[in-house]
Amino acid sequence: MTKQKRNAILFIVFYIVLFYSWIVIYDDDAWVRAVGASLLPVIAALISIYWLMRTFKFLSNKHRVFLWLLNTGLFLHLLSNLIWFVYIVITGEPDHPIVSFYIWISAYALFLTSLIYKLKLLYKTVSMSPFIFNIVIFMIAAITLSTHYLINPIIEISMEHQSEAFFNILYPIIDIAIAFVIINIYYMTRLEREKRTFFFLSFGFFIQIVTDTLYAFLLINNQYEFGSLIDPLWALAILVIGYSGFYVERKEEVETWEFTSQPKQGNNGLILNLSVIYLAILAMASTEWHLNVLIIGLILSIVAIVTRQIVMTKNHRLLLHDLWYHAYHDKLTGLHNRTSYLKDMDELINYSKEKKKNYAIMLLDFDRFKNINDTLGHGIGDQLLQECSIILKASISEEDRVYRVGGDEFIIITLDASEENCERIANTILNNFSKSIPVNNYQITITPSIGISLYPYNGQSSELLLRNADMSMYLAKSEGRNQYKFYSSELSSRIARKMRIENELGDAISLGQLSLYYQPKVDLQTREIVGIEALLRWKHPDLGYVSPDEFIPIAEETGLIVSIGDWVLTEACKQIKDWHQKGYDHLCMCVNVSVRQFQHKAFIQNIEKILHQTGVNPTDIELEITESIMQNLTDSTRILHELRRLGIKTSIDDFGTGYSSLSVLKTLPIDAIKVDRTFIQELSDKDIAMVKTIMNIGFNLDLEVVIEGIEDEEHINTLLNISDERILGQGYYFSKPLPPEKLESILQN
Ligand code: C2E
Ligand code: MG
Ligand code: MG
Repeated sequence: MTKQKRNAILFIVFYIVLFYSWIVIYDDDAWVRAVGASLLPVIAALISIYWLMRTFKFLSNKHRVFLWLLNTGLFLHLLSNLIWFVYIVITGEPDHPIVSFYIWISAYALFLTSLIYKLKLLYKTVSMSPFIFNIVIFMIAAITLSTHYLINPIIEISMEHQSEAFFNILYPIIDIAIAFVIINIYYMTRLEREKRTFFFLSFGFFIQIVTDTLYAFLLINNQYEFGSLIDPLWALAILVIGYSGFYVERKEEVETWEFTSQPKQGNNGLILNLSVIYLAILAMASTEWHLNVLIIGLILSIVAIVTRQIVMTKNHRLLLHDLWYHAYHDKLTGLHNRTSYLKDMDELINYSKEKKKNYAIMLLDFDRFKNINDTLGHGIGDQLLQECSIILKASISEEDRVYRVGGDEFIIITLDASEENCERIANTILNNFSKSIPVNNYQITITPSIGISLYPYNGQSSELLLRNADMSMYLAKSEGRNQYKFYSSELSSRIARKMRIENELGDAISLGQLSLYYQPKVDLQTREIVGIEALLRWKHPDLGYVSPDEFIPIAEETGLIVSIGDWVLTEACKQIKDWHQKGYDHLCMCVNVSVRQFQHKAFIQNIEKILHQTGVNPTDIELEITESIMQNLTDSTRILHELRRLGIKTSIDDFGTGYSSLSVLKTLPIDAIKVDRTFIQELSDKDIAMVKTIMNIGFNLDLEVVIEGIEDEEHINTLLNISDERILGQGYYFSKPLPPEKLESILQN
């Protein structure tokens, strides 16, 4: 106990002793006793107001309203006593004027109002109607009782003072309401920080109610006098109420936002039921316990109804909890779910707008999680998600919250939107996922990619914030995964374009936006066209022509490349068939194939099907594959052999830029290499030496050699000087890639 509290207690003790001494000492002088009884409470109220006001600066606005109401009540209490005191001094009579009664009763009304206000704060979002319903039932019971035992006798006593009778009845009624509200407040705050404050507050009101009751009894029995032994108790009640102020936390109450949690529920069921039972017992007592079958039946049914009510209430509470839990939690991980996220976001945005606060959302998605489901099964995938949730929860502080919003998608909301804090959280998460996670008998390594967006800088609505976090996460993924990215507007247009391409590419085929352009492959010596390369074009309605260098990697990432590749091969086959029929039957069609397509399990099957459907001879087709197929040599070699078995030719595209290992080259069943155009761009001595070497390797391995990127006559001459072998070339010098009809006119010439 601090010194201040000790002093306050000492003061209260001293005050009460003084009060009683006064009453005892002036026992035989009613007027002096009345002077004390009216003046001393003024001091008590003053002190109490002072104690409470000291907490003012530590309180949030809402609690200040509560304090204002309470203090105004205390002030009215003070005022009524003061008027009474003045009246006594002036009239010399120990009586009190009716105005002080008026003011007194208003003080009670204010106490009640302040308490109801506090209760409303505690109920927050919960509807007050069940509570109001309960208060009505309770009041009916209580008023019935007090009418019978207190009010009727008081009315009889006060017959001479009609006006006072009304107030004497009002006291117990307001007291009953105060008792009810205070019990609820006490119940609801018992687990909160403010529990001790409200303990003393409740205790103060409790003393007041008891004193009022004693007063009523004394009044009924005609024993009450001003300055009686119960008078100090009223003052004590006021002091204890003020004393509660010492338990208000002495640090500034920062109004922070709280994530939604299960709504609090008051427990007024118990006293409600008790009051009904009590009423029943008193009803029996009023018949002087002449029990007949009817009364026993009535009692038994009341007991049964009450029991049922208690059981039902309990069940309801459990059910409500269940409902609430399932509505806002994810079944698999127990984390908060998407609904909960949306709700919190809505509330948080309103709160942040009003209070000008910042916060951040971090969108997290696990890299290649699908692979785990595909290879280890969904059971393991689910278990892994549970483990991941535990790790995520452990990576954030208590004030922040993590939600599972989709399969392997999580969102963290942090109320500290500083860059350092977000970085700290993101780094903790990345670090915690750097170790492998044991699931069943597997050790699984999984990495997250995180996109961060900040309110209000990166968006003022929850949708925009999420979209921007999503974009940043997307960037984190496309730039190598296992990292975090903050949203920034410069990145956004880049990412937006990429996302758009990713989203809209899927429909490009059905919308007829894809087409093939064709570029001739020429024998450098004879200048004869010996083949055609099909090159994919995408004409987007808004973005215009999108380069394959831009959309092919995206198609590979999303897996769309498989269906697109099939479409390309089909179109190219139809085209070559058409040209063969028109007499250009020596032409071979070169079609680009990406690794993902090449390694797809149905690759060979699809090709066979397309060749069959279009009726094209396999030997008229050459597939261009990049060097990256060598990363998985065994499978690639097998597939190349199958292609060769079908009669389809193959070439290594962009040769010299990738992973080619020369020793491997000799074992691969391929037909050609296409030397990347970077080798002849500048044509320095070194470049020439390189091209010469590469060409020689090709010739020595009996491969056809194609040089890409031939843009002028000089290129051709240089190449022809290097070797006498048959060199093929491709480039803008002969023709840019053209739509079929244009290429056809070149063929005609
Ligand atoms: P690639 O297969 O190496 O195709 C050659 C690229 O070089 C083409 O670019 C072509 O327009 C360009 N080119 C040809 N001659 C010259 C020249 O003299 N100078 C310069 N500077 N460039 C020249 P494009 O059509 O933009 O295609 C880019 C890449 O996209 C292709 O490189 C290929 O890897 C890929 N691609 C194109 N179509 C398809 C397709 O249908 N499937 C797959 N998987 N990839 C494709
Ligand atoms: Mg190519
Ligand atoms: Mg190439």
